[in-house]
Amino acid sequence: MAPIAVPEPVSATVASTTTTVPPPTHPNLLEVSRSPKAFGSAAISLVDLPAGALFTKITTATPSKKAWSSVQTGKDSHIELNSDLVFCNHSCAPSLNFDMHKMEVRVVDDQPLKRGDPLTFFYPSSEWDMDQPFDCTCGAGEGVCCGTISGAKTMDQNVLRKYWLNPHIEELLKTERK
Ligand SMILES: [Zn+2]
Repeated sequence: MAPIAVPEPVSATVASTTTTVPPPTHPNLLEVSRSPKAFGSAAISLVDLPAGALFTKITTATPSKKAWSSVQTGKDSHIELNSDLVFCNHSCAPSLNFDMHKMEVRVVDDQPLKRGDPLTFFYPSSEWDMDQPFDCTCGAGEGVCCGTISGAKTMDQNVLRKYWLNPHIEELLKTERK
């Protein structure tokens, strides 16, 4: 029998010391600025778009449990984005809205998106009660930054009203907070 060709082994040294970066999922729309710091990575826009424009459809989501990386889609439902959109951080002055009912990401209604802008959304617009509350470092400034972000459940309604909110958050505000 002829010997079977054995593929060249992948260099174990390189494989064990280099973090594998997956290929970009939205190479024309965003780039990921990666940081070894926990939650330090960010998504940066590669495009200019007018206020309210469609940024992208969410096409790779799968149902999941609530987790640091999940996005809430209904009263009791969550998804994983399974794409570089997961690097869109929270901001109290966001550049995007994540519409989890239409499954689309749009530019916020009051400001155009510029190439180089950090891609962010207001997490309480989709999250009712977050798995991991955090102290916001969005830098939006006093009176704009909401401080600790733990979801819409515990936020001041007057503050929430300044933002576009997903229908399930509107519904939960009506039913859970009278
Ligand atoms: Zn903030």
